[in-house]
Amino acid sequence: MMSAERINTIVNAGIVTPEGLIEHGAVTIVDGRITSILPEYHPDTIDDQLTLDAQGLTAVPGFIDLHAHGLHGHNAMGTGLAGVIRALPTYGVTSFTATTLTLPYDETLRRLTEMAVVIENPPEGANCAGIHLEGPFLSPARPGMASAAWFESLSWQRFSALQNASGGRIRLVSFAPELGGAMECIPQLIASGVIPSIGHSDATFDQVAAAVKLGLSHATHTFNAMRPLHHREPGVVGAVLYFDEITAQLIADGIHIHPAVMAVLLRTKGLRHVALVSDAAPLAGMPDGIYKWDDSQVFVQGGACRLADGTIAGSHALLDTGVRNLVRSVGLSLEEALIPASRVPADLLGLRKGRLSPGYDADIVLLDADLHPAVTIVGGKVAFSRGDTERVESVPTSTVRSPTRRTQEERG
Ligand SMILES: [Zn+2]
Repeated sequence: MMSAERINTIVNAGIVTPEGLIEHGAVTIVDGRITSILPEYHPDTIDDQLTLDAQGLTAVPGFIDLHAHGLHGHNAMGTGLAGVIRALPTYGVTSFTATTLTLPYDETLRRLTEMAVVIENPPEGANCAGIHLEGPFLSPARPGMASAAWFESLSWQRFSALQNASGGRIRLVSFAPELGGAMECIPQLIASGVIPSIGHSDATFDQVAAAVKLGLSHATHTFNAMRPLHHREPGVVGAVLYFDEITAQLIADGIHIHPAVMAVLLRTKGLRHVALVSDAAPLAGMPDGIYKWDDSQVFVQGGACRLADGTIAGSHALLDTGVRNLVRSVGLSLEEALIPASRVPADLLGLRKGRLSPGYDADIVLLDADLHPAVTIVGGKVAFSRGDTERVESVPTSTVRSPTRRTQEERG
């Protein structure tokens, strides 16, 4: 099976449906959409040319990442977005929101324009469902790896200029609601179809409560770069746990968050109020070495991306690692792990995705017994098939390789 081939039937697959697991079923696809899920394989109705024999692999809905900065040296914030779209299916990701970071305002405008051009005419690959603007409307008290010198408080006029540069493609904005007039922008964001998300924020519990009253409904990488929970001042973390209105992003790379804390969040919020995200850096999936991410020097080592001072600089892992971590480290079933990895973000973005059911888009991942993607299908077309794609597709010319880098095989 080669990439970009259109298929109309998958046979001999385990199929994870909202109603439960079908053991040796078939999926039929017409015009990129699932038309039926059959509990049995009827060979007389199968057109071999367009049939994919899953050979017992497990079909699950494609993963949807609301927080991806890039991978394989491709930076989603700019023309590199095309490479991101092509590479993400390698990891079972079928949709995502291309995520920015904080750069000088004029540079951000320029990059958003470049992203809009790519989204307008995308290459084959994952579906880019819009842009997640992470910065500049963040708090200098909780910068994470971002450059606080370019932070400013959210204003409708400054946001609108960025939204115009993107051709109206910003779907999610991470911001600190406690700063300046940011709070008053929440109803305007919602009215214009943008999801307001608290992130990189030092807000108190009461400030978050006020933002929730105005419609705040999402939290960016919960626990990371936000005021932590104290039992007398619950902070942003306490508010995210407390308010059912908030869907919480969770980075599940196993490095940002301890598995026990992942479990606490998932139990407290419930699976339907958590969106699994990667926060993948443009260096995700790259061999160990020293690289540039815009103005930052990033050290990739042992599955982590860090600045020189040890600050975590995004993830090295993609969303498939997150799904495996939810199963192996947190103890969820695969069926449960797919809710925050696919259904929740699909519903949040209003996509007809996230479920293997008739009427839904044929965005499907075939997982092997170790939960690694073997085949990824986007809109009924094979976007990745293990064996016909290198794990790391390209290395940007600006990259500095360290002499200690290991081979892909050793990285596992
Ligand atoms: Zn991020």
